[in-house]
Amino acid sequence: MELREIPIEGYERVLQCHDGPSGLQAIIAIHDTTSGPALGGLRMWPYTTRHHALRDALRLARGMTYQSAVAETGFGGGKAVVLGDAQRDKTTCLLRAMGRCVDRLDGQYITAEDVGTSVEDMLVVRQETPYVVGLPRAMGSSGDPAPFTALGVFLGLRTCVEWALHTTDLRGIRVAVQGCGNVASHLCKHLHQAGARLIVTDVVPAKAQRLAQQYGARLVAPEEIYALPCEVYAPCALGGTLNDHTIPRLQCQIVAGSANNQCLWEEHGDHLRQRGIVYAPDFVMNAGGLLNVAMELTPAGYNEARVLERVRHIATTVRTVLATAAHEGISTHRAAIRLAEQKLATVRQAKVYGPAGSETPGEVSVGGARVRHRRRSTPASASTQRRQLQYSEDVLRQSEGEHGLGGEEEGMRAFPNFGNIRDNATAFHLAMDMIEHGHVAWGRAVLARLREHLQTTHDIKSVQWILPDVEAALQRFSCDEQHEMR
Ligand code: NAD
Repeated sequence: MELREIPIEGYERVLQCHDGPSGLQAIIAIHDTTSGPALGGLRMWPYTTRHHALRDALRLARGMTYQSAVAETGFGGGKAVVLGDAQRDKTTCLLRAMGRCVDRLDGQYITAEDVGTSVEDMLVVRQETPYVVGLPRAMGSSGDPAPFTALGVFLGLRTCVEWALHTTDLRGIRVAVQGCGNVASHLCKHLHQAGARLIVTDVVPAKAQRLAQQYGARLVAPEEIYALPCEVYAPCALGGTLNDHTIPRLQCQIVAGSANNQCLWEEHGDHLRQRGIVYAPDFVMNAGGLLNVAMELTPAGYNEARVLERVRHIATTVRTVLATAAHEGISTHRAAIRLAEQKLATVRQAKVYGPAGSETPGEVSVGGARVRHRRRSTPASASTQRRQLQYSEDVLRQSEGEHGLGGEEEGMRAFPNFGNIRDNATAFHLAMDMIEHGHVAWGRAVLARLREHLQTTHDIKSVQWILPDVEAALQRFSCDEQHEMR
């Protein structure tokens, strides 16, 4: 088993995990541990490339930092993603290998179920590490987080209806639910009981059919969901569904769902505001599951009544965010980020874990193991944090080819910097992303120059960590080229 650090500015640790015998390919991203060890789910998804997986892990980990900060769980933000199809590739061996990777971090990252993994899978992971939460209730653990996530989303959604439509009565309100998985099933139950009219869709038709039958919902094809006339669009599938293509088509008054990272970029929150659509920020709405698993780690242990009390508070937080956004004239998305950053700053100031840089550890108990929480780096000031955030946003954007790097000609002009390991890693990921987006010649040119640089540099870490990937990629893409020529 191999764990390799990928240095990414703005993130405390990012690790690439590989295990030959089980075929495990995974990424663990630890974004921020100001408030405590990083807590976040383990996602399994058939990413087309490692770069898509990395991008997802980075976004999700950052979202977890904000979610934890706003919900005041006392934990930091992290996420793990496994590359693979959960239906086809998930094996006991693979989950156990993942457990060993998590264990190697000594509690700096605590995992739980997420899209593509279940409570049962966490039991397998638990065979290798105590740093797992959300195990079955029978074991004294907190069980499936989805019902708590769904309750928080339902209460937040009702707050948005009250805000935008001036009623708390959901009877007759049309809610278009995208994705009919764990959270959506519970959410639909609450909405149905409250008298809402449901419209559902899923890329797996059987899942949508099941909910349609159960709640008399109207069934639509996945692409239809955006342009449906309705009061509420509830994204409960994957992230990025609020983007340049979908926002102009929306015919709803409110967006309120459980999916993480619904806005593809921060400005999509602004676009929603410009269109007069009330958006309930995802990481505020979907904190119920996190509150449930975090309760397991409190000194007093799991207590469902206290979880429910805290989940109900989500409605109040949503109202605060809506009111702040309206008062400040900013998007709800930006208002929620501001709230998270304020809360993180307060934690830093309170010096819960000792004065900045003193490395005084805090402690939590996970599965009987004590986790001594020690930040790896000196907490950054608010302005540095903002700069780092902007930097990571820029790296992600560059990867998306959104900085005028759309064409190879322009790409050549915007050749990335080589130098320290961070620059080199960024250049490598950028090149791979551009290749993925079809700019193969430009991507290959960057890789070739990067190889030249790495063959002469004295930066041993760059040589050890990046050069093998660069060489493998060049070999692969020159093979592809020969194949194309044939
Ligand atoms: P899930 O895997 O059970 O459900 C997701 C569903 O979305 C699946 O049925 C899938 O087929 C469907 N789907 C995927 N892409 C789709 C598309 N383009 N159109 C329509 N359907 C699509 O996952 P879940 O646990 O219900 O989580 C749903 C979302 O909520 C995820 O984004 C997750 O990160 C987020 N979330 C979940 C929890 C939790 O407690 N489970 C907590 C916080 C956030």
